[in-house]
Amino acid sequence: TALPPPAAIRTTCAYCGVGCGVLARPDGQGGLLPVTGDPAHPANRGRLCGKGASLADTLGGAGRLTRARIDGRPVPLDAALDHVADGFRRARAERGPGGIAFYLSGQMLTEDYYAANKLAKGFLGSANVDTNSRLCMSSTVAGQVRGFGEDLVPGAYEDLDLCDLAVLVGSNAAWCHPVLFGRLMEARAARGTRLVVIDPRATDTSRAADLHLAIRPGGDVALWQFLLVEAERRGLADRAAEGFPAAIEAARTDCPDIAACAALTDLAPADLARLADMVLTTPRCLTLFSQGVNQSSAGTDKVNAILNLEIALGRVGRPGAGPFSLTGQPNAMGGREVGGLANQLAAHLGFSDAERRLVGEFWQATDMATGPGLKAVELIDALEAGKIGALWIIGTNPAVSLPDAGRFRRALARCPLVVVSDCVTGTDTQALAHVLLPAAGWSEKDGTVTNSERRISRQRAVLPPPGDARPDWWLIAEVARRLGFSRAFAWRHPAEIFDEHARLSGAAAARFGRHFDIAGLAGLSRQQYDALEPVQWPVPAGSRDGTARVVPSQRLVALRHRPPMERPERTGELVLNTGRLRDQWHTMTRTGRTARLAGHAPEPLLAVNPSDARDAGLDQGGFARITGRRGTALLKVTIDPGQRRGEVFAPLHWSDAFAAEAAIGHLASPATDPLSGQPELKHAVVRLAPW
Ligand code: SF4
Repeated sequence: TALPPPAAIRTTCAYCGVGCGVLARPDGQGGLLPVTGDPAHPANRGRLCGKGASLADTLGGAGRLTRARIDGRPVPLDAALDHVADGFRRARAERGPGGIAFYLSGQMLTEDYYAANKLAKGFLGSANVDTNSRLCMSSTVAGQVRGFGEDLVPGAYEDLDLCDLAVLVGSNAAWCHPVLFGRLMEARAARGTRLVVIDPRATDTSRAADLHLAIRPGGDVALWQFLLVEAERRGLADRAAEGFPAAIEAARTDCPDIAACAALTDLAPADLARLADMVLTTPRCLTLFSQGVNQSSAGTDKVNAILNLEIALGRVGRPGAGPFSLTGQPNAMGGREVGGLANQLAAHLGFSDAERRLVGEFWQATDMATGPGLKAVELIDALEAGKIGALWIIGTNPAVSLPDAGRFRRALARCPLVVVSDCVTGTDTQALAHVLLPAAGWSEKDGTVTNSERRISRQRAVLPPPGDARPDWWLIAEVARRLGFSRAFAWRHPAEIFDEHARLSGAAAARFGRHFDIAGLAGLSRQQYDALEPVQWPVPAGSRDGTARVVPSQRLVALRHRPPMERPERTGELVLNTGRLRDQWHTMTRTGRTARLAGHAPEPLLAVNPSDARDAGLDQGGFARITGRRGTALLKVTIDPGQRRGEVFAPLHWSDAFAAEAAIGHLASPATDPLSGQPELKHAVVRLAPW
């Protein structure tokens, strides 16, 4: 008789910030049966997109990193960990605490992130702990801190079901957050929810919209200034809101009338008037924003321009209304909770004396970092200057994804010790590393992630890690023990790290009055942690229930329109915009392993407006040589009338390891937002020529 099928294990998807629950079952041959959506998970209620449904296809086989390596040679894991600890000790002795750096990933679990931050910021004295979340949503963090006094998403996914109007800004949600987009489409069918899309490009999202505004890149602040001026003119704005007088004065300076806004945004006055009518007369209007807002040298201002209007209209934290940041990665928010950015400490704290003291005493730290560390692009400068003696990169591929990727690769060559922890082999970054550590990957590790609606979910192990692969927190703790910090890193299970994190959040919330508080989840037994149901923070002490919506303190910020940093100056120069495809994720180290996903867009492509293609002598299906101010790429041309004239689009996924000269990180601009440090990945100047 056949054996009964194995029980499904409830876990979460490895990809985007929607944070869908999935059901995974071992196939009995070292892999998984096809995963299905978890009907009991509130984020997706059983639905999955193509990426999530293909998770089982991306596991195992050739290309899995299972042994540690030093300079390319397989070595015992213990020897590699000794080597890493020696290198960190040497870097610190020779260059001081600032000579040590970590570069992490929104793919890591919260417990992994916590361990790295504790080691660097509490015991090595270095706040040089940044993450690929810097490229993703750090402008939203900075904007929310300015507008709300803390990094807080006020709403919940339920608001997508409850809104009468959804305004998507800089978001191709149909491809990048597909399950949430599906939820919006269901709301449209059920209650007639209307959709506005503000995006320079025509996309599958904009094609479903009632109104698509193909805004000039960089015009967002002006657009929201106009709406604020219009709200005030119609008597809808709360003039008593904190910061309102200065904000409205600045808004009137940029956009005294509709014509001024039209000039700054390239939008037709009639469309602007229609947008104002829709947004200002619909109380249940939800504004969802994503990388088109964040990845800009004015990203923080763009976020605050959106928040300004929502605050003035009194919509923050109301059901079906208010601002909603769509996070890119599965754990971008969990990383933030434990100090995953170089300008943060754990528990959403900063580096004031009082905040440092609280964290330092809690950790019984031996060497607390004294101030903020190097953000991602600043880290490139420090590497280039020879200031970094040891860099540990975990679960990410910055040699492809950082802007001016060629410069990063050259700078990395100046670092005496580059350690990469990963679960795959053959990335462009690994080619530049001295030590490779085999990490447990999705389906092999245990911990938590936090999605775009503040919901903490368990990611559970379904399979044993192959070979010498170990969880990231374990690898970090082993290096910490070798450096003499055994007592502070004596965890035996991620449940113990989660408990520490929950207790620290409670202490921080009690002292500094922040909403980030999961003290109610402290003290879970290992069984309770294993069984933890998805829950939205805050979860204060004395409760195990989450909180769907939060109303933070609010203030408007006075803002002025600023164009992107790098702008075309000569005939033939165009603007390169970058973004995701529907079926790929990041630099394709996982999604690139399955033919099913590759079928959607098998080759690196460049979308070009028909007039620009004609001017450059490019044909549909031909190849274009793209030359920027920092590098070049070779991409296949697709003629796309949905591109604005003078702007081209290329997906960010391909690396040089996948296809020669396909990595567009070589062309991307390293200009950053002055507050968030987020690079302007969506606006670089390029020229085109046939190949
Ligand atoms: Fe995974 Fe995002 Fe797709 Fe959900 S929407 S299945 S989290 S990639």
